[in-house]
Amino acid sequence: MATLPKFDEMLATLVGEPSVSSTTPSIDRSNLRVIEHLANWLDGLGFNTQLMPLPDNPQKANLIARFGDGEGGLVLAGHTDTVPYDEKKWQSDPFKVTEANDKLYGLGTCDMKGFFPVALQAVTTFLDQPLKAPITIVATSDEESSMAGARYLAESQSVQADYAIIGEPTGLQPIYAHKGIAFLTIRLQGASGHSSNPDLGCNALDSMYDVMGELIRFRTELAEQNQNPAFEVHIPTMNLGCMHAGDSPNRICSHAELQIDLRLLPGMDTHATIEMLSSRLQGVVARCETTLELTTHYPPIPPFETDKDNDLVQTLAKHSGNPPGTVAFGTEGHFLQRLGMDTVVFGPGSIDQAHQPNEFLARDQIEPATEILRHVIRRYCTA
Ligand SMILES: [Zn+2]
Repeated sequence: MATLPKFDEMLATLVGEPSVSSTTPSIDRSNLRVIEHLANWLDGLGFNTQLMPLPDNPQKANLIARFGDGEGGLVLAGHTDTVPYDEKKWQSDPFKVTEANDKLYGLGTCDMKGFFPVALQAVTTFLDQPLKAPITIVATSDEESSMAGARYLAESQSVQADYAIIGEPTGLQPIYAHKGIAFLTIRLQGASGHSSNPDLGCNALDSMYDVMGELIRFRTELAEQNQNPAFEVHIPTMNLGCMHAGDSPNRICSHAELQIDLRLLPGMDTHATIEMLSSRLQGVVARCETTLELTTHYPPIPPFETDKDNDLVQTLAKHSGNPPGTVAFGTEGHFLQRLGMDTVVFGPGSIDQAHQPNEFLARDQIEPATEILRHVIRRYCTA
């Protein structure tokens, strides 16, 4: 029987390797060390491991590790990166796992480096028996920033299975749907001039007034046409988040920029909705001389939904005792579904601690999570 380091040792090793991902290049880090530790452990267990460096960034990689042959089976997936951290607000070293009151503190303990030792412990039970379908562990890069790792997985069609669990912290509740997330920037370019005569320029803030009116009309229409009672906020949302414009009260404002957050429900087409929004806004500014440009910060995260009655959703609900639900955060769910897998988000730890200083994983989540994964592996992978 293959040996694996103890849970605490694996968690400490993974948390000890900084792997912050960020769209700000100065704080963005490689995830290769985390991937290499996972690959070593999985090699030791007899998995067939494949490192997948991202084509445009060799400092980032995904890992695909497979045990057993044949079609179908189960993927246990997670991301290896963390969000940036505010060191001043941490009461312990974020890169050192510190235990207090049965809580394991450290950056990424719950979101979501802690899922990997849980998954590895779960799979060890099945290594000396014949499998009818493979178990695959997938570890991705850049989930917290661009989702480049999961996008590459989906584009390269490199993973195949019937079912996938994404081990994000859900407090062991099976999550079958979440909204999509898109950050959009609207830039209006007018022309400056002396404020005393409006005809000397073209005021971008005046145009922004029209743009904001149209945004709010569009938002109202989206909410009237799309509702899903499974969500706590059951309509698509649009938040007008920040705006920068102009430089002086006595100059005609030549430039205005507004950033919005758009969250669409499952079933809504992200691309088509943004296209429609863009053409409506172009129509509004066409009335004056301003030009409008609408861009996305990074490619939007599409909404995600698996049938609530799906076998994996129901199996996880039965073994966890928690009813299937929806969440307000985004995951790699859409990309795994594009690979043809019925995907559910389910993992130890609470999202309340994710992206927070003094992030922790409660120790009492570990054993139940491991046991539930064993039930699922038994169901889909053993003869
Ligand atoms: Zn996460």
